[in-house]
Amino acid sequence: MPRLADPEACVALLVKTIKTLRASLGKERGTLSGIGLALPGFVARDRQTCLACTALGWRNIKIGAMLAERASLPVWVENDAKALILGEQLFGPLKGSPDFSMIFVSHGIGCAHIVNGRLLWGNAGGAGEISHAPITVDAQKALPCRCGNRGCLETVASLLAIGNAARQAGLPTNTMDLTRLAAEGHSDALSILHRAGSAMGIATAQLIQMLDPSHVVVMLDPALKDGVYGNALQYEAESHILHWTNAHTMINFRDFEPDSFARGAASLAARYFIFGHGGV
Ligand SMILES: [Zn+2]
Repeated sequence: MPRLADPEACVALLVKTIKTLRASLGKERGTLSGIGLALPGFVARDRQTCLACTALGWRNIKIGAMLAERASLPVWVENDAKALILGEQLFGPLKGSPDFSMIFVSHGIGCAHIVNGRLLWGNAGGAGEISHAPITVDAQKALPCRCGNRGCLETVASLLAIGNAARQAGLPTNTMDLTRLAAEGHSDALSILHRAGSAMGIATAQLIQMLDPSHVVVMLDPALKDGVYGNALQYEAESHILHWTNAHTMINFRDFEPDSFARGAASLAARYFIFGHGGV
């Protein structure tokens, strides 16, 4: 589905797509109990309002209420990373684990935590917004971020940052070609991916020190996972965590797939409208 910045157009496309999908199921379709919506931004506790979304330019958009009215169904809105981890808690390999974190590296970077069996929310729903945590201490080298600050993790370690750095170096911007060049020893390609992966590794070590999760699942583009980015991430994370207990955090890499968010959103609907969980 294309990404639409206009909320009305976004809702119209969602409603149309749901109708088309249900029609395609024919006699197989069951009862539709509700809709889960995952978006890359802050969500208010009412689960209806997007407070801020840098990627779409949204501020205080009542996207849940708009969709519920048009679809005549209840809607649960959640931040994309939080939707992913709630899906993992319900259906994934870490189902039942009381303390774990998930990170995804895409155009931006998302992160969420389950602590003592519950989603870590924070004061205003921002717990886990690792993407905009500062990673660069040298103000001269801190790049401007989409959020308006400088030196955020996203400006170094995201696909957006890697693509920008590759473009400036005259290299291909897709991760597959860039990783191949790095594997062949191209110094600029190596440098870009190593710097990005190292920054992500340091950020991973920081969250491990703060929360002591049993697992950190890092969802990566397959080309990044198996190349210098993934190796640098693992090395830096392992180098900066304390190994003072026998039960140290497991860092698990997984492929980030195009439908990962859709499955996370679907799990919201299952959680709140089928299984009847009340709140988080
Ligand atoms: Zn930022």
